[in-house]
Amino acid sequence: MGKKRVFEIPFVGLKLGTHEFVYELDDKFFADKGTEDFLHPKVLVKLTLEKNTGFMILNFSVGGNAEVTCDRCGNPLNITLWDEFKMLVKLVENPEEMNEQEEDPDIFYISRNESLLTVENWLYEFSLLSVPMQKMCSPEEMGGPQCNKEVLQKLKEMEVKHQENNFNALWKGLDKFKEN
Ligand SMILES: [Zn+2]
Repeated sequence: MGKKRVFEIPFVGLKLGTHEFVYELDDKFFADKGTEDFLHPKVLVKLTLEKNTGFMILNFSVGGNAEVTCDRCGNPLNITLWDEFKMLVKLVENPEEMNEQEEDPDIFYISRNESLLTVENWLYEFSLLSVPMQKMCSPEEMGGPQCNKEVLQKLKEMEVKHQENNFNALWKGLDKFKEN
């Protein structure tokens, strides 16, 4: 069985009704797709596929954890991924045209002649969308063991010193600090 096949669902052979699939996504899955700021991910996606005549409803439950960089202090930060996504897949005569016209990102069209549904890109996309918007140490952790106090202090000093300068200067200063 080829590697890619893992992410292909041969839905034609499925009975009408609900079917469950579980996908474990690791470092390699994300690295192959070019994500670098997502370290040691252990993502588990439970996919429920409800097959109907002419359409399918897909529910993706994303869970797991990964390491990202704290936006404030640059420390590695463990985050928990948890979110749910829904897709409506419709079987039509002219999927390309329909996909072009469709404005709802939760609706996708495939050909009536299609027998496989590839979920790889959705697994990737939904995993990344499950990352919290604010990737920062929580207020309780600020200055705590998770957060990098030295960097925070240095950032504060530089903010004062370079108030007139732009953001780039701040980061240049930070790089220098890191080299020490
Ligand atoms: Zn932090």
